Amino acid sequence: MPNVPCFGANAIGLPPLIKLLFMSVIVVGTMAFDAIETPFGKSDKIIGGSATYVAYAASHFIQPVQQVSIVGYDFPNEEINALKALGVEVEGVEIVPDKKSFFWSGKYHLDMNTRDTLVTDLNVLADFKPVVPESYQGAEFLMLGNLVPAIQKSVINQLKHRPKLIVLDTMNFWIESALDDLKEVLQLVDVLLVNDGEARELTGEYSIVRAAKKILAMGPKYLIIKKGEHGALLFHANSVFFAPALPLEDVFDPTGAGDSFAGGFIGHLARTKDISFENMKTAIIVGSVMASFCVEKFGTQRLKEITREDIDARLDAFVQLVNFDIALV
Ligand code: AMP
Repeated sequence: MPNVPCFGANAIGLPPLIKLLFMSVIVVGTMAFDAIETPFGKSDKIIGGSATYVAYAASHFIQPVQQVSIVGYDFPNEEINALKALGVEVEGVEIVPDKKSFFWSGKYHLDMNTRDTLVTDLNVLADFKPVVPESYQGAEFLMLGNLVPAIQKSVINQLKHRPKLIVLDTMNFWIESALDDLKEVLQLVDVLLVNDGEARELTGEYSIVRAAKKILAMGPKYLIIKKGEHGALLFHANSVFFAPALPLEDVFDPTGAGDSFAGGFIGHLARTKDISFENMKTAIIVGSVMASFCVEKFGTQRLKEITREDIDARLDAFVQLVNFDIALV
């Protein structure tokens, strides 16, 4: 059983010298309002956004999380304060006083694995030009959450020191509307996270293995293909590793599962300071654990309430799920 205790110390408020002892992670992405429909229920406008989910998940393992995002006048202060209380630094979150926050609405199919986007209102995102604060310089890990690919690239370009690991997430919306920019940023990152549909769309290959080969030739050295309730695959050179998803009795809202996975993945790597393929195997189990919590309630609710004990117990459940001895014949 890999040893993955959570990181409890709150690095916020510590003098700069002591902060240097902690690995920091820059998280870039949307902070948004979502409206979600599933076959079993409907939410009002709730807090979402790729960077929000990543930050909530990663903060269980690593602090500080240094957030880069943009919100409008309508984004609640309480939410920003809740993130700060978990060790998320928000100097890089721009607040636009006369525009609305990014809004996304989606409707899940009966399988709760696939969804249709109903609305994407870019609002503040339309003219977002992030400026990475000086205090974020030197971060060892960069998580580029789902966002306009050109903005993801501009964040990489602003960093004076290349992080040890750059992870990028994207989605069909950007594959369809900004493919050239996406291909450019892919050349600059170490790990790409996509779901199986996106891997197929990006490469035109039905076979996941062929799609993985093509993506690994586009730039990233590591590729994670998420398959919703069917787990996730990690590809690197000629190696592949599989992590299951935990079979859950109730899935209320799959929104943010991918981002929570990303937060757990990078949070574990940053906490252990080890970016080897072997440690990435553990990291995708940690990612799967965080995704399994996320889907249990609407929005970010579950990620906010879980404790270290909950995470440890679920890690153990994952280990039991795939722990078998087989007699070779
Ligand atoms: P996931 O379910 O992990 O793919 O992430 C869903 C989150 O991504 C939601 O909270 C949305 O606010 C956010 N989102 C949806 N569409 C986009 C987009 N085109 N760019 C960035 N974030 C998005």
